Amino acid sequence: RTKEVPLKRSEDNLRSPICCIMGHVDTGKTKLLDCIRGTNVQEGEAGEITQQIGATYFPAENIRERTRELKADAKLRVPGLLVIDTPGHESFTNLRSRGSGLCDIAVLVVDIMHGLERQTIESLNLLKMRNTEFIVALNKVDRLFGWKTCKNKPIVKAMKRQSNDVRNEFKMRVTQIITQFKEQGLNTELYYKNKEMGEIFNIVPTSAISGEGIPDLLLLLVKWTEKTLVEKLMFTNEIQCTVLEVKAIKGQGTTIDVVLANGVLHEGDQIVVCGTQGPIVTTIRALLTPHPMRDILFINMSKIFYANASLMPQGSYLHHKELKAAQGVKINAQGLDHAVAGTGLYVVGPDDDVEDIKEATMQDMKSVMRRIDKS
Ligand code: GDP
Repeated sequence: RTKEVPLKRSEDNLRSPICCIMGHVDTGKTKLLDCIRGTNVQEGEAGEITQQIGATYFPAENIRERTRELKADAKLRVPGLLVIDTPGHESFTNLRSRGSGLCDIAVLVVDIMHGLERQTIESLNLLKMRNTEFIVALNKVDRLFGWKTCKNKPIVKAMKRQSNDVRNEFKMRVTQIITQFKEQGLNTELYYKNKEMGEIFNIVPTSAISGEGIPDLLLLLVKWTEKTLVEKLMFTNEIQCTVLEVKAIKGQGTTIDVVLANGVLHEGDQIVVCGTQGPIVTTIRALLTPHPMRDILFINMSKIFYANASLMPQGSYLHHKELKAAQGVKINAQGLDHAVAGTGLYVVGPDDDVEDIKEATMQDMKSVMRRIDKS
């Protein structure tokens, strides 16, 4: 492949931030993802949410539409938000590859009735170690005794409709949880009271069942990444890509599901990934993404449930000559049987020495192995 002209990085050309959802079991990570995904956006309307490999993509128009009530109608600078589908994914926790952290920002989910739990603290430690930005979703506010449902409302509006008793219980629990965070060495505050964003981490109260606070969470995710991560979000030609899963697919052999955080992948690119038996050097045979849900319905009305990407029938992927970050992609190539999830994927450029890249790849492997040894 011919040498690419390096892209001039610019604030006007940002990629979508990548977000992970973390937290203790049963705090509502899965439900929260379902809630932000399951909108009433009409089919064909601008800003359709799309299911990707291992992730869900929320275009900026969709986020703007859903956060209208918050009246923060300033233009969004990122094209959208990519949320990793598997909360607490193993490869995310394994992932420590140098500087190429998979997520730009995390949502740390805490159950308002339980406060900080063991895995909350584990997640916190990972986030601190990697210096990853995060927002606390203080979930299950609807479980406060006497809560009046205000479906999908911004949290301040929902709170105004609650009785004094509910508000008092809310205040008491929030204060306790802020104290628990302090014990972990972190300052936190309700986002709408936070005057020192950056120093003090934001808490967004949410209900994944009735949707209160979800507009706030979405807007804050986008606004906060735009404010603090512009440098990281500038689009480049430099590949930043992480293997999320290694999957055997009937008729296709072993494929890898990756998250392309930055750069462009091409069919025919020579790539290097970590293998349990050493670096794997291979060539991208196919770059695949799921069909948009509409198309799947069209292909086979009787298989509506295949709209879930992981259950899709064989051959129902779209092939691409090239794909641009940020998105979830399935890669088909030879020799991927022993590829390792949670490590980086490298592309061999025209000026690169394969041996150097093989070595870099195996550095990732070492850090993953160290983590496995520790746990
Ligand atoms: P995960 O283990 O963190 O992914 O938690 P789940 O999303 O599976 O949720 C655990 C349980 O809590 C399920 O029974 C959910 O229905 C329930 N749940 C999750 N979010 C909420 C919420 O906001 N309010 C209430 N009342 N229940 C919730």
